[in-house]
Amino acid sequence: MTSTRRHVLQAGLFGGLGSLISSSHAEAPAAPSKRVRGIVFMVSDGMSHGVLPLAEALSQQTRKRSTRWWELLQSPGSVQGLMDTASANSLVTDSAAASSAWGGGQRVPNGHINVTDKGRKVEPIGATLQAKKCRLGLVTTATVTHATPAGFAANSPDRNDEQGIALQYLDRVDIALGGGSPFFDPAKRKDKRDLFADFAKAGYEVVRDRDQLLAAKSPRLLGTFTPGYLPYSVDHSRDEALAKKVPTLAEMTDAALKRFLTSDAPFLLQVEGARIDHAAHANDIAGLLGDQLAFDDAIATVMAAIAGRDDILVVITSDHGNSNPGLSGMGSSYRRTNQCFSRIAGMKASHERIFADWNARKGGSAELTGLVQDRLGFKPTEAEAATLLDTIGGKQVTEWNHLLANPPGILGQLAGNHTGIGWTGTVHTADLTLITAVGPQAERFHGLVRNDSVHGVMLELLLG
Ligand SMILES: [Zn+2]
Repeated sequence: MTSTRRHVLQAGLFGGLGSLISSSHAEAPAAPSKRVRGIVFMVSDGMSHGVLPLAEALSQQTRKRSTRWWELLQSPGSVQGLMDTASANSLVTDSAAASSAWGGGQRVPNGHINVTDKGRKVEPIGATLQAKKCRLGLVTTATVTHATPAGFAANSPDRNDEQGIALQYLDRVDIALGGGSPFFDPAKRKDKRDLFADFAKAGYEVVRDRDQLLAAKSPRLLGTFTPGYLPYSVDHSRDEALAKKVPTLAEMTDAALKRFLTSDAPFLLQVEGARIDHAAHANDIAGLLGDQLAFDDAIATVMAAIAGRDDILVVITSDHGNSNPGLSGMGSSYRRTNQCFSRIAGMKASHERIFADWNARKGGSAELTGLVQDRLGFKPTEAEAATLLDTIGGKQVTEWNHLLANPPGILGQLAGNHTGIGWTGTVHTADLTLITAVGPQAERFHGLVRNDSVHGVMLELLLG
């Protein structure tokens, strides 16, 4: 890293991570071992190392303040570590195997939820906790039955069996909030079972929009606010109807955590910012950083809720890297870098929304160019638009990185000429991920941590 680039963000990027880890550990010796009554396990899904400094820079630019995670990195009470993220069959994990490693204590093949390559089921932490009267919460911006929440509470050889996973949540997950209503809906389920009614009968308050969530009274909650994933923050915040119907990740986190904090039972709450991963797959920097800031708001909510308490451990991490976004030095002596980066704040829609709008209009090249110019702030050339349309039509284009020879990869590169953001592909990577832990026993997450060791630590801390 050059000093110029470091200067750009006015803070050390991860070139300095090694010293960051040792120094913060040295400055902040572990608090005396205290009992842990609750763990909040927060996952920015698919968050490569480049994301955190970029989210910090965007927050400084648009909100004139630091992100909460950035502050925690500098806080004497926090411990930093790195997660070794591999799965049983690949150096590059998917979210199913990653969450199974955390939730079951064993590496399984990609695509599996707590089921080994031999077909043996591994008990998910949710089942172990249920037997000991500990409470479990799952909050996500994906479907509540998606791979990362499911890894804490279900078994399935197929992560896509979300109907089967929904069934396993009954009486095992005390609070489940996110998207995925069809998996509980008798009209959409293969077995016609009305899981909404079954959850209600078991004492859950079933909520379907933001107002119902904010007004809910019961200690147990099932909330599905969309059929699929929750919208990207960049789209959610600009659409009144969506903002009224769908709560933010911070609001869902607050609803879950306050229920756990007011009861005496030990608890494990997983909070997932799921769409950081989706935006990385889409090479969509505005979608990605918008959701990373929404995840950061959830961190702030958690830290505010536990202020003054010494019995809650907070672990913040990611399950794997994805497409490794990075800000390149732009222009002579990198002098155009900040100007390029500052354009991200002016982007008005996710790539997903742009493609959906273009499809709905059944538009051609001119419509696509117009949408990109209006929403992302730059005008593709005719040749660029033609290449993008070719990939959409399934035609081969001249793109030497095969991982980028697709619509997200091409649009991501065109946008990158404008913002300075580059991507390695449109898929997960083998990178270590950052861990920040705060609270009692935080030192257990110092240094290099294998993903399959997290399960044993969480059980030991909660069940002693
Ligand atoms: Zn992914």
